Amino acid sequence: MGKIELVGVEKAFGNVHVIRNVHLQVEDGEFVVFVGPSGCGKSTLLRLIAGLEDTTGGKILIDGTDVSDTPPAKRGLSMVFQSYALYPHMSVRSNIGFGLRMAGMPKEERNRKVEAAAQVLNLTPYLDRRPGQLSGGQRQRVAIGRAIVREPKAFLFDEPLSNLDAALRVNMRLEIARLQDTLGTTAIYVTHDQIEAMTLADKIVVLSAGQIEQVGSPLELYDHPANLFVAGFIGSPK
Ligand code: ADP
Ligand code: MG
Repeated sequence: MGKIELVGVEKAFGNVHVIRNVHLQVEDGEFVVFVGPSGCGKSTLLRLIAGLEDTTGGKILIDGTDVSDTPPAKRGLSMVFQSYALYPHMSVRSNIGFGLRMAGMPKEERNRKVEAAAQVLNLTPYLDRRPGQLSGGQRQRVAIGRAIVREPKAFLFDEPLSNLDAALRVNMRLEIARLQDTLGTTAIYVTHDQIEAMTLADKIVVLSAGQIEQVGSPLELYDHPANLFVAGFIGSPK
């Protein structure tokens, strides 16, 4: 299961409120995309869900349990960042299996899981290479592999493709869509790319200045943008 609920979530840094009264329900298996201009609070909201920041108000529930006091590693979520943060001195196999090794999983079981993840991501031929011997797209796939092997309740993606060139971005977008079809794991995906949002999302959340402007399917937002802001971001002209 991977159901995530935000109930009146707030975040302030000092007296600067960056997230205000956010209510949102993410269903198990749903692919939800956060869009909005730079600085509107997308990453902060994701980090609150991950537990990398503490809320200053409201509640976050994962499968019905309030996780306010649950540390990030115990929330059962896997985060994928735009910077790959791979260990340069380790093989692809060790990079993907790192979290499992830290969790004390025996080598044989770990290898089985790493190889299954590599298969899903077409990384099997590269398991013994180091990150420096891979292309940008392959490195991003390793980062995703590291998230997959942990079999999380949900993936949290923060602009995972923004460092890639345009052609690779299209490839990786298709790959993420295929992965979603294969695994069906809940995902929250932050992007400022309208095409990524429209093609990947079951549900799009449009944010502006720390608040939700509108939530809906790509088609709903396109056909019925709630206001000019949403229309300007993804809708047809209103
Ligand atoms: P986005 O990901 O949508 O570009 P962020 O969530 O990174 O936006 O940032 C939202 C706002 O919160 C910005 O104004 C940013 O400067 C501020 N902010 C983010 N993290 C911190 C922090 N640790 N301390 C103070 N302000 C922060
Ligand atoms: Mg951000």
